[in-house]
Amino acid sequence: MINIKFPDGAVRQYEKGTTALDIAKSISEGLARKVLAANVNGQVWDATRPIHSDASLKLLTWNDEEGKSTFWHSSAHLMAEAVESLFPGVKFWVGPPVENGFYYDMDLGDRKMNEEDLEKLEKKMNELAKQKNSYIRKEISKKDAVKYFSDKGDEYKLDLLRGLNDGEITFYSQGNFTDLCRGPHIPDTGFIKAIKLTNIAGAYWKGDERNKMLTRVYGVTFPSQKELDDYLNMLEEAKKRDHRKLGKELGIFTFDDDVGPGLPLWMPNGTVIIEELEKLAKETEQEAGYKRVVTPHIAKESLYLTSGHLPYYQDSMYPPMELEGVKYYLKAMNCPQMNCPHHHKIFAAEQKSYKDLPLRLAEYGTCYRYEQSGELFGLMRVRCLHMNDAHIYCSKEQFYDEFRAVNDMYLKYFKIFGVDKYVMRLSLHSPDKLGKKYVDEPELWIETEQLVRDVLIKTKTPYVEVADEAAFYGPKIDVQIWSTIGREFTLATNQVDFAQGRRFKLEFTNHDNKPETPLIIHRAPLGTHERFIGFLLEHYAGKLPVWLSPLQVKILPISDKFLDYAKTILQKLKKADIRAEIDDRNEKIGKKIRDTELMKVPYMLVIGEREMNEEKASVRRQGKGDLGAKLVEEFIHDLKNEIEERRGE
Ligand SMILES: [Zn+2]
Ligand SMILES: [Zn+2]
Repeated sequence: MINIKFPDGAVRQYEKGTTALDIAKSISEGLARKVLAANVNGQVWDATRPIHSDASLKLLTWNDEEGKSTFWHSSAHLMAEAVESLFPGVKFWVGPPVENGFYYDMDLGDRKMNEEDLEKLEKKMNELAKQKNSYIRKEISKKDAVKYFSDKGDEYKLDLLRGLNDGEITFYSQGNFTDLCRGPHIPDTGFIKAIKLTNIAGAYWKGDERNKMLTRVYGVTFPSQKELDDYLNMLEEAKKRDHRKLGKELGIFTFDDDVGPGLPLWMPNGTVIIEELEKLAKETEQEAGYKRVVTPHIAKESLYLTSGHLPYYQDSMYPPMELEGVKYYLKAMNCPQMNCPHHHKIFAAEQKSYKDLPLRLAEYGTCYRYEQSGELFGLMRVRCLHMNDAHIYCSKEQFYDEFRAVNDMYLKYFKIFGVDKYVMRLSLHSPDKLGKKYVDEPELWIETEQLVRDVLIKTKTPYVEVADEAAFYGPKIDVQIWSTIGREFTLATNQVDFAQGRRFKLEFTNHDNKPETPLIIHRAPLGTHERFIGFLLEHYAGKLPVWLSPLQVKILPISDKFLDYAKTILQKLKKADIRAEIDDRNEKIGKKIRDTELMKVPYMLVIGEREMNEEKASVRRQGKGDLGAKLVEEFIHDLKNEIEERRGE
């Protein structure tokens, strides 16, 4: 018998050679139908692979990242089987899972694949899926593997084999298809219930343009038809909500070739949004005891040598400029973000004692990142960013409270922006890599990781743990959020830092009158303006809440006769700090309303004879239509409340 330890700590005995699937079956048939793979001692395995010794085990389903990627990777094999039956003699390179599905790179010889072929392939894949063919793992010697692919004349797999040794080579077969693959895979093809091949593209072999161009076929699969339908609907909706399209229509940002790719120009409407977000951040941080600082966009090379950014991150930095024989670099977006060293210098500028801690320094810092032109994408990947950055310098004893306060700040923001789905991805160190991949501080790692975990558990914040993905200098927490249409965004990263304090020789005098190095928390709950506003445009489909709307009220007089009355209302709104305009065009009221709707202005005040005589306005709310006539004073009073409370809809 062997001992199997479950994630909840329970240990049960099973017969030697049992599989994760057997174990799932012993729990319930329903569970067994959902098990895609298993995490065995920290490694993802086939659910059907025998376990021969004591192990920790986590069953992986569609709801686990690794379960999903195993599902998609297995689907790539299924697609390859279908391709091989329709294009005999095809040769395959690699077929990994990606963010939304999978692809496989292949050499079709002199044949070409078109859209119609995709339909045929989908049909074939469905047919093969229904056969419920098992994915069968086989360990094989290098000699036999080389012989297999030499006989096939497959130079691509032979190339992969060159980098592998005996003992680490496995073949996987399902139906009539065999592939060289490390695995793991799902138990059988029957798990794949819905299939969509999405795209055909060209891809150079090994990403090198001197090599042959291969055909890359993308697809996505799901365990049910409903999930595929939901996914396709989401894509359709995402197209309508594309931040690049909305950003143009609503006059939020633009790009100009003379300024440069990836350098957004924020137009007046976008700037209002930026200022409202900064106001929110400043109020929130003020309340939470932060102090604001302002630092230059550039610094001398020596600063980044001390911080360790150079030379490691040089590839993502703008080239230096030389001045008086000294190299200067633009602050870059890196891990840690490059506002940090400037803030560390502010910490170091004055003698510190435990009474000065925690010290929280905040700045909406501007950073630059050299992204490849091909990687640039709207506001999501740019070369200039404004970051809601701050650094908290604290003692070990203060760490828990400080980290908890940061977490609370996130939760507060999620509430304001109606973000219902989010998850904190906590990346941990790996003890055997201390001193190599990770700062050699074994106790600090364990202690801070536990404190972070405690905060997440106590605040009931959804989180997942990822082993061996921490930053060099401490555990990190990536914050993933989902827009209303279910698309995932990485909002920001929080980092705990044991290293920078020491590198910069930051010290405070502790209670025992001894010098001590502070812990540093890097945090940026609102991420960057660029990414966050891109997210908000999709999340709200451009219909921003009133407090964020560039224009909050549009006054629509029915005719010129009421223009003076409209102007008195405008004065009152302005006095109340409400962003308003009059539509004084000589147009029919129906057209004025339609145009204002298109610009997604939250409130419209329609002014005619009756409204003027009664000192009222007919109120229309974007998306809701006519709310009836209201006294102007009353409307302003209610609207001010809505804005001050930063109410959603
Ligand atoms: Zn595989
Ligand atoms: Zn930082």
